[in-house]
Amino acid sequence: MRLIAFAALLAALPGGALAQTPAAVEQPLLHTVVGQVEGERMRADITALVGFGTRHTMSDTVSDTRGIGAARRWTEREFRAISQTCGGCLEIALPSDTITGPRVPRPTEVVNVVAIQRGTSDPNRVIIISGHIDSRVTDVMNFTADAPGANDDASGVAAVLEAARVLSQHRFDATLVYAVLSGEEQGLFGGKILADYARAQGWVVEANLNNDIVGNSEGQSGIRDTTRVRVFSEGTKTVETAAQAERRRYNGGEVDSSSRNLARYVDGIADRYLANFDVEMIYRTDRFGRGGDQVEMLRAGFPAVRISEGAENYDRQHQDVRTENGVEYGDTIEGVDFDYLAQVARLNIATMAALANAPMVPSGVRIEGAVKPDTTLTWAAAPGAAGYRVWWRSTTAPQWTHSRSAGPATTLVLKAIPIDDYFFGVSAISDDGYESPVVFPGPAGAFVSVGDPPVPAT
Ligand SMILES: [Zn+2]
Repeated sequence: MRLIAFAALLAALPGGALAQTPAAVEQPLLHTVVGQVEGERMRADITALVGFGTRHTMSDTVSDTRGIGAARRWTEREFRAISQTCGGCLEIALPSDTITGPRVPRPTEVVNVVAIQRGTSDPNRVIIISGHIDSRVTDVMNFTADAPGANDDASGVAAVLEAARVLSQHRFDATLVYAVLSGEEQGLFGGKILADYARAQGWVVEANLNNDIVGNSEGQSGIRDTTRVRVFSEGTKTVETAAQAERRRYNGGEVDSSSRNLARYVDGIADRYLANFDVEMIYRTDRFGRGGDQVEMLRAGFPAVRISEGAENYDRQHQDVRTENGVEYGDTIEGVDFDYLAQVARLNIATMAALANAPMVPSGVRIEGAVKPDTTLTWAAAPGAAGYRVWWRSTTAPQWTHSRSAGPATTLVLKAIPIDDYFFGVSAISDDGYESPVVFPGPAGAFVSVGDPPVPAT
């Protein structure tokens, strides 16, 4: 009976597809970190951040009680306190730039607060969680009025801090970076500073999970949605060259950028490790006509997704705090649902732990099989990988559906599976069963975009 019920459940999933199993073996550690998240700690974080009055990028930097300077020094102290509980496992960096622009009329120092937890065996591979600390009201240039920014984006900052608290109690193969960004509302400056910093450090960024507006569960239309979070990802790469686009238009890859396959991985984590909480993959870089710091990471060629609540309330974003005709406007802490925010934090934290203990996504993935009955994939050996798994799916399916182990080999021939009819990819698996995201072959899917060799014409 139970088996029949399970089969019926599988058949009822969208597209009839079972989401990619993110880890080849169910990992007790991922259940542990999910269980360590506490919504009340995030309530304290957001209360503290709202208490600085405004965190506008051009607000006071000298006061200890009001403005962006006080808020970022508080954040730095929080990271240092967390680090003390793990024997100094976090390094703190304050990458910054002096900015002028259409929304920054006078030169203004924009400072990110970044904590780095070095990986044990693969420290140059980096998983980044980010949120932005700056806030705004109706007039984006108003840097004196109270701008609580409780949900946009103290909620994201709280998720970053909670990730640091939980994950710093464990050790991981890859490096984890907890990034609190500034200058988002004035033009995504914190995202640019982070991307520049990552490049200067020579980091191989495997994933950026950008959390922006993640704590509200009551939408503008009155709908209450506590069971769903949206993960936005670009379909084709921002950094795709004209030659790569030409090949991709012909052979496919429109829905298989590294960021999209990162989103699929996050979706798989939710299915396996979170109760009553689902990822809605959105096939867009961001919400319609809007942006976030992940855009700057994509411009630098790094895989990145935007995570946002399932149902937004626009009366509570970018608004002067006021009551008008009985309607309350403003991004106040009353608009944050801490049980919901905790679920979003759990999703981030489980994803980071899974990625950081898995091997790096395979590189140099190639596929061939034109005018042949079989399809062949080959790839470079990934450091730390004990084995590999080749995945495929219908060209209209949202998730990877079929897979076959390649064992430790770096090539696999799929007999009697024609290249024309499916999309294909490959993941790497550690000896203890952690699995990487699936990577689509060629430059369209590669997780490391810089220095991709051009695909030879056939
Ligand atoms: Zn925001």
